[in-house]
Amino acid sequence: MLEAKPKIVILATGGTIAGSIDNELETTGYKAGVIGIETLIKAVPQIKDLAQVSGEQVANIDSSNMTDEIWLKLAKKINELLKKDIDGVVITHGTDTMEETAYFLNLTIKSDKPVVLVGAMRPASAMSADGPKNLYNAVALAASKEAKNKGVMIAMNDKIQGARDASKTHTLNVDAFSSPNFGNLGYIVDGKVFFYNTNLKEHTKKTPFDVSKLDTLPKVDILYTYSNDGNGVAAKALFENGTKGLVIAGSGAGSIHQNQKEVLKELMKQGLKVAISSRVVAGSVALSKDDKDLGFINTQGLNPQKARVLLMLALTKTNDINTIQKYFEKY
Ligand code: ASP
Repeated sequence: MLEAKPKIVILATGGTIAGSIDNELETTGYKAGVIGIETLIKAVPQIKDLAQVSGEQVANIDSSNMTDEIWLKLAKKINELLKKDIDGVVITHGTDTMEETAYFLNLTIKSDKPVVLVGAMRPASAMSADGPKNLYNAVALAASKEAKNKGVMIAMNDKIQGARDASKTHTLNVDAFSSPNFGNLGYIVDGKVFFYNTNLKEHTKKTPFDVSKLDTLPKVDILYTYSNDGNGVAAKALFENGTKGLVIAGSGAGSIHQNQKEVLKELMKQGLKVAISSRVVAGSVALSKDDKDLGFINTQGLNPQKARVLLMLALTKTNDINTIQKYFEKY
């Protein structure tokens, strides 16, 4: 008897993969998030050979406008789908904030079935658009048995990358994503999936984060540090405006200009949580004993935008700095 094809749901959120402009040669200046999911699926009829595919439009936005509300909606919907007889989920997404959504789902999905984010760097209207092949690859990955229990993944430009490390590292090239600390998890070639690497950090079912009853997330913002840093002013304003946590994009292995650091120390005494990441693309943060004792949290090689995601989720569980620090070490 023939084995039934895996059931894959594609959740569409917009982005360049659903973008269009009235000129095949233009790969900038288009409008992202204008084409609907049924049209995206129709453009790649070959995915029907890989899986039984159905689509649902969750949002249709440029991902630079991503919101907590859409994140929560996605996580809840995916958790519900994967409790049923659905074998995997693909999310079409703009590439600008794809890594943040991927990491949010990596920490909040309670299933070991594959969840794959995919996008495109060229709009659907462009000559040599990359969206159709990327979508085909994403469905191949979500439908593959090997992709189980790998955490949330990103399928772009034939590469498989893990949500924790994958980052957009080129503004315009089709090879826009790389994983600076762990490397790629594998590749997709002619609809076949090859894994070469594994993600050692805990994810999905092993995290304590449950968003099923949440309608909002704690407010966490990001500040840069730089020569002659003036962001102490911004730190104070954000705290007064209700920010519970700040991630600092430190210089080097997590240094912060004294102008900003002195303000942060004062705000930490008033309850602000401060997690230190780095402006540098690869590597990890190293904190001095004094900084640890002051309560600064080490984000362990998560880039600032991903450290923000984890700090938000951590603050849904606890205010205890040691527990938050352990989360950064584990996930
Ligand atoms: N600005 C677009 C977005 O993130 C870029 C893309 O999808 O590649 O929605």
